[in-house]
Amino acid sequence: MNNPLPFRIRVAVPVPIHEYFDYEVSAQQYADIQAGMRVTVPFGRQTCVAIVIEKVALDVPPSTQFKLKKIIQILDEQPLIDPHILQLLTWSAQYYMYPLGEVIQSALPTRLRQGHHYDCVTTQWQLTPLAHEENTLKQLKRSEKQRLAVEYIQTHPHGVLETELNLHGISTATLKALEKKQLVQQNEVQIDFSRKPVGLAEKQLTANTEQLQALEQIVPTLQNYAGYLLDGITGSGKTEVYLQVMWQVLKQNKQVLVLVPEIGLTPQTIARFRARFDCHIALLHSGLNDTKRLHAWQQAQTGQAGIILGTRSALYTPIPDLGLIILDEEHDLSFKQQEGFRYHARDVALYRGYLAKCPVILGSATPSIDSFALAKQGKLKHIMLNQRAGHARMPKMQILDLKIAPKQHGLSLILIEKIKATLQQGQQVLVFLNRRGYAPVLMCESCAWQANCPRCDAHFTLHTQPYQHLHCHHCGLIQTLPKQCPACQHPTLKPIGLGTVKIEEGLKELFPEHDVLRVDKDSTRHVGSLEKIYAQIHAEKPLILLGTQMLAKGHHFPHVSLVAILDIDAGLLSVDFRAPERTAQLITQVAGRAGRGDYHGEVILQTLRPEHPILHTLLEHGYRTFAEQTLKERETACLPPYRYSILIRSDAKNEQHNLAFLSQNAKLLTDNAQQSVDVWGPIPAPMQRKAGKYHAHMLLLASSRVQLHHYVKHWWQYVRATAPSDIRLSIDVDPQEFG
Ligand code: ADP
Ligand code: ZN
Ligand code: ZN
Repeated sequence: MNNPLPFRIRVAVPVPIHEYFDYEVSAQQYADIQAGMRVTVPFGRQTCVAIVIEKVALDVPPSTQFKLKKIIQILDEQPLIDPHILQLLTWSAQYYMYPLGEVIQSALPTRLRQGHHYDCVTTQWQLTPLAHEENTLKQLKRSEKQRLAVEYIQTHPHGVLETELNLHGISTATLKALEKKQLVQQNEVQIDFSRKPVGLAEKQLTANTEQLQALEQIVPTLQNYAGYLLDGITGSGKTEVYLQVMWQVLKQNKQVLVLVPEIGLTPQTIARFRARFDCHIALLHSGLNDTKRLHAWQQAQTGQAGIILGTRSALYTPIPDLGLIILDEEHDLSFKQQEGFRYHARDVALYRGYLAKCPVILGSATPSIDSFALAKQGKLKHIMLNQRAGHARMPKMQILDLKIAPKQHGLSLILIEKIKATLQQGQQVLVFLNRRGYAPVLMCESCAWQANCPRCDAHFTLHTQPYQHLHCHHCGLIQTLPKQCPACQHPTLKPIGLGTVKIEEGLKELFPEHDVLRVDKDSTRHVGSLEKIYAQIHAEKPLILLGTQMLAKGHHFPHVSLVAILDIDAGLLSVDFRAPERTAQLITQVAGRAGRGDYHGEVILQTLRPEHPILHTLLEHGYRTFAEQTLKERETACLPPYRYSILIRSDAKNEQHNLAFLSQNAKLLTDNAQQSVDVWGPIPAPMQRKAGKYHAHMLLLASSRVQLHHYVKHWWQYVRATAPSDIRLSIDVDPQEFG
């Protein structure tokens, strides 16, 4: 008997709408289609690439609201996204209250989103006949990089993939340079996604007692979901624990997903994984071009890659045989997406592990207060590593009161002496200042005029490189430096405060015979500059390393024995309830760079607030005690994690209009939700004016997550639908920042 109703499929279309759409298909298409395949569909006047969510059961009557349209074409023979990922994405869209169609698209690399064919070719490099002539290679004496590249390619007479060369630190630029010299040639090849047996490329270290205890807890649970908080001081050997657990998983031909912070994916990290395992590693981060991203994604999705190593966005990659998820430096803010679909990779990773029935390890020397709370509730198993692995010991920390300390170039004389002594002993110094540029303020000494950004409530930062200019770090505006004060016309403009460039100047003057290496966003803009700096750091030579929080993360600097923290006072004074947590993490992480080698480390912290309780807790009792105290304070104040929160942000050209709109809707929510949702605000954002717009927000808090989400979901749909077009709104579930 013929089915009287049309055959239909339900798809996700990449538009900012919270629903799926149904389309008609033929009987044959209905038989061929599976969830997770791509189809092209007409949508409005456009054609879109949509993802099949499910086949609509044959006895469900079609909605009469819309005219049922037919799909145009099926793009895939096999599903690209497995049911787990679809479920994870649907859950994420609901939880973060973000349009489903757009969330689902985040699982696909751009080229597949654009509708390109799945089969892909990639670039492979080979030596040319010219390169085999002996004299030619002698020409490369002056370029170490090119010589190394040629040597590597030489060991692969049939050619080697560009992605593999990149993994070995050979850049595409180097290859192109060699191509110009006609020493190498490229050709396109069909990618082979077959698997190869996995092996250990080097011996594992002998686990120490604490590491052994950690392994004994985790390894027996590999077949099931379990969440772990691996809470180990810097240098305690967390990475070695990851590597040993990974081996247990890889041995069973399963795959491992390792997530690291945005700037944690350094050549050092990659090298460590490569050195240990003989297996395919797929690298997924924001720096990849579309074809490389597709290739890495396919390595994961076909099961070829044993290890998928990436930043936040790698979280939604399909991984058919997922056996373990690791999130390193789990406290890092870059795991939370701060725009659009504001998911937290840490929370979604836990849910992914639950769906995939595999363990999830969250590791950090300074766990987030949220994870601490989960550990307390028993939702995460708390594993502690309290000793440094190998011979290294924890550094000792000293606080210097800047109010009374005599200084030169912003450095106290005591600190200068210590730097001198450290360099004399042949060791390295790390100077930490979280402020790039020359000076944070330019001020007139005659009339106190200050150079402020006309579009933001913020000072311009004075930059002297590559030329003198004023730069707003909030909206990107750049202006030339006035020659005299625009207010009183006196030529008395003076930089106030310290930026990394000014400190660099001071350090070079004080220690002319030593290298000062500055590491910040400005000094590392060029590809390869960071690698160059690392190479110098690893050479055993006394030098001063100066930088922003780029230096605070996960690096191993074996020759650094003195760490100086110059100015973290802003973090001590902030009104954000999470500021103490961030500041304590930053101090502990930076301090943890000291004494990781064979020398004893020392940390000096300069501050105008030496009496601040955070500093004393850290100094006398360490981060874990700080975390315990912070949890208690949050409990008393009924703040997250003791209540659940959602932040609504809005901005508009008109300040009053914006606040009035939020107030009116706040009332609507409180009327409906009664006592179950507490509304704080609306209030102007900490930086109210940014890029010419007025920003405001309100925080919604509730002790029941279910109730909070229930009330806010309906309310939010209404608010979005009724917002005037000049007000831009966003929702942030479990917000981490209030800016
Ligand atoms: P973390 O990730 O906790 O900062 P790492 O795993 O990087 O610590 O270890 C710090 C240093 O200690 C590394 O140089 C590492 O090789 C060494 N190490 C780790 N575990 C051991 C061990 N069991 N025996 C000897 N050295 C170890
Ligand atoms: Zn003036
Ligand atoms: Zn600005």
